[in-house]
Amino acid sequence: MAPGTGYWGKQTATVDWCEENYVVSYYIAEFWNTLSNVAIILSPLLMLIVGYKQQHEKRFIYSFLAITVVGIGSLFFHMTLQYSMQLMDELPMLWASACFIYVALMTKSKYNEDNSLLQIALFITCVIITVMYILVEFPEFLQVSYGLLNVTAIVTQLKLMMTVECKKRYFILGLAFYLVGFCLWNVDNIYCHHLRSIRLHTMANSAGILFQCHAWWHILSGFGAYLGLLFA
Ligand SMILES: [Zn+2]
Repeated sequence: MAPGTGYWGKQTATVDWCEENYVVSYYIAEFWNTLSNVAIILSPLLMLIVGYKQQHEKRFIYSFLAITVVGIGSLFFHMTLQYSMQLMDELPMLWASACFIYVALMTKSKYNEDNSLLQIALFITCVIITVMYILVEFPEFLQVSYGLLNVTAIVTQLKLMMTVECKKRYFILGLAFYLVGFCLWNVDNIYCHHLRSIRLHTMANSAGILFQCHAWWHILSGFGAYLGLLFA
């Protein structure tokens, strides 16, 4: 087997992260980036089941479902590095951010109350971004759009934290997790060369996860988003 090749064949995704491909397994392109999605999937999945049984509000059920879908999409993307799976990772991130905005804006509403106007506005926003991204195929377009939606969600939650009685520590902890994860996402992109060198020369394979910053981004951002929902 040639280095960097494996079961899923030629990479068709438009992005390839810093983790070396098919190093740990012939069947998994980016092993640690794939495995770390378990952290994104399990907590919200558990809350999804608990929330369904205890009849939590629909806005929470949909949001936990959205994070679970993001985790599953991300798992398949990092496992295969195929473009179709990349869309399964990236597009749910947009829709999940829209869910978080909705959850935060509806905090003062009655149990299971709907705001159709807000739903339609967020739905149309996500459809426009989705269609434009599929047409242009620039990862940067998706990253900026996702960033804007996420900043909107965080600012909305911040305003909420200052004006209503809520579990503030969940918000602060969730935001801290998310921001540290985002820093590591940038470190992974900017200092990839150094990270690869560290992994190659100083780390045993089993300890390689320590310098897989994209995998840590998955774990920290997933947990941060999860805590952000508990707070609201
Ligand atoms: Zn990822």
